[in-house]
Amino acid sequence: MRIGRVEIHPLNAGTLRLDGGAMFGVVPRTLWEQKMQPDEKNRIGMTMNPLLLRTGGKNVLLDTGAGDKQDARFRDTYALGPSTLSASLARHGLGPADIHLVVNTHLHFDHAGGNTVRDEAGRIVPVFPNARYVVQRAEFEEALAAHERNRASYLPENYRPLFDEGRLELADGELEVAPDVALAPLPGHTRGLQGLLIRSGGETGLYLSDCVPTSHHIPFPWIMAYDLYPTETLATKKRILPEAAREGWTLFFEHDPEVPAARIEETAPGRFAVHPLTVEGW
Ligand SMILES: [Zn+2]
Repeated sequence: MRIGRVEIHPLNAGTLRLDGGAMFGVVPRTLWEQKMQPDEKNRIGMTMNPLLLRTGGKNVLLDTGAGDKQDARFRDTYALGPSTLSASLARHGLGPADIHLVVNTHLHFDHAGGNTVRDEAGRIVPVFPNARYVVQRAEFEEALAAHERNRASYLPENYRPLFDEGRLELADGELEVAPDVALAPLPGHTRGLQGLLIRSGGETGLYLSDCVPTSHHIPFPWIMAYDLYPTETLATKKRILPEAAREGWTLFFEHDPEVPAARIEETAPGRFAVHPLTVEGW
C-alpha cells in the first residue's frame, strides 16, 4: 500500500502466544474471549508484524520480531514460532543488507529480538549489516534500569552490543528519520515507547506498536496488564484515536494476527468502529 509517496508493507516475523488476561488488563475474560479465543493454557495467538517502508530511495524497517537466538525453554514459554522476517523481506526483493534504518518502537524481546543474531563463533552481531538502529533514549534508559516488573521483557543481547558498537542511536522525542516519516512518542506501555507517523501527500498513517497492539485494543480501557504506566497509555489513546478517526488515518497493528491495518470511525464519543484494510501479500 502507499501513503502519499511512501510505499508501506506490513511484514510477518512469526507467531507467539501470551496470556489473554495479561493482554487485556482489567477487561473481563467474558468480554475479550469473544474477540480472541484462548488456548488450554489461557494464551491467545498473535503475530509479530514489523513494517517495511520505502521512501526517498531508503528502506526502513520498523521492529524486528523476536529473532531466533533464544533457547527451547524460552521459546516454549511464549510459543514462539521460527522467525519469518527474512522470508517476509525476501518477498519484497530485499535482503538484510538492503535495510538502511531499523527503528525499534521499544526494546522488548518480541520487538527487538531480530536486531541481532549469534554468529558461528558465538558472537552477537547485527542482522542488518548496513543499518543504523534508532530507539528513544527514554526506552534505552528504562531497559538499562530494568527491575522485577519488566526484566523478563528486556534481553540485553538484543540491543546492548549494538549500542557498544555505536550502531544504536538514541532519539529524544519526535524526529524525521526519512522523507515524510517521523518518530512519534506513544508513552504508557513503556515511558519511551514510540510509533512511526507517516504524513505524505495529504494522507496519514500511524504504526501503533504496543500502545494498541491489536485492533481489539482500540476501546480506551482495553489496555494490556503488561503496561508499566497504564494511565499514560489511556491518555495517549485519547490524544490520538479521535484525531485518527476524524482524519481517516491508516493505523497499523503490530500483534494482530488478522488485521495488520485498519481505519477507525468514531460512532459515538469514545466509541470506535474498526474497518480493516486489505493488505496484498501479507
Ligand atoms: Zn512491549
